[in-house]
Amino acid sequence: AKRQGRNTWQWYRGRKAESVKHSVAMRHDLHTALIEGHFELHYQPLVDAMSSRMRSVEALVRWRHPTLGLIAPGDFIPLAEQTGQIIPLGRWVLLQACREIATLNEQSDRVLSVAVNISSLQFCRDGFLDEVKYALKATGLPPERLELEVTESVLLDGTDPIIELMQTLVTMGVRVALDDFGTGFSSLSYLCDLPTHKVKLDRRFVQKALKNRRMAAIVQGVITMAHHMDMQVVAEGIETRAQQEDLTRRHCDLLQGYLFARPMPLEELKRLPDYLPAI
Ligand code: C2E
Ligand code: CA
Ligand code: CA
Ligand code: CA
Repeated sequence: AKRQGRNTWQWYRGRKAESVKHSVAMRHDLHTALIEGHFELHYQPLVDAMSSRMRSVEALVRWRHPTLGLIAPGDFIPLAEQTGQIIPLGRWVLLQACREIATLNEQSDRVLSVAVNISSLQFCRDGFLDEVKYALKATGLPPERLELEVTESVLLDGTDPIIELMQTLVTMGVRVALDDFGTGFSSLSYLCDLPTHKVKLDRRFVQKALKNRRMAAIVQGVITMAHHMDMQVVAEGIETRAQQEDLTRRHCDLLQGYLFARPMPLEELKRLPDYLPAI
């Protein structure tokens, strides 16, 4: 029996013997969803650590499945990456995020930036630069208002062309943030060459830092290092006041997490005040 939301993937995954059949079914479902427009974006604010003001939002995709309900990205992005469907899906996400936030900025006196998650497969593929140019041109979002979140796995594709692409984006005014910082395998030295302007500390780091002295040292070290490289630091997964205070005391620039706001539909974001003190 099919279950709702969070349990969907268990349902898909629970049938190991039928897993091939399932991925075929899900692949088909993804295809239908793309054509029929069953994806939507939710937005989560990033707040300035000092002022608690919303500076930007991260776009997070959800799949509104006709029978299974709302499906989280962790339950379909990996499959979409396997099947290559991440390419059309990612293209849709980029265009939709630019369109929705450009419109929001026009209709209010807001100047929000939007951060869009880009799969390494999408980023490293020929034609990605054109997708970005198209999204900006078609929606009128100023390049300075767009930020691309990539993980260090983009480097698996070889460094030189990737650095070149990032430099082109930066020259256009688009910014690049390094997501899930610290969870991957590459060495710190790649940071010398990547023209990124922001690192996002993974929530596992952030949440562990309060209880573990060594993790606290890593977090502090990353923040100090990033600042010396003229990069900003975002702490993800801030859920408690203690975490907020800890990261603010360590001079983290931006905070993101349930303590301030959860990812929300565009309509809710429209009504959200700019000032977001911890709740
Ligand atoms: P991520 O980029 O690291 O995004 C942050 C995730 O942490 C989001 O999960 C967000 O809802 C969640 N989160 C935010 N604040 C808190 C908190 O205080 N506590 C906890 N426990 N979690 C928090 P979500 O939306 O389920 O997305 C999961 C991952 O799926 C993202 O991780 C990202 O890697 C991927 N993803 C989401 N949207 C897209 C997309 O449009 N394209 C691609 N390629 N990947 C996406
Ligand atoms: Ca992200
Ligand atoms: Ca993360
Ligand atoms: Ca991620």
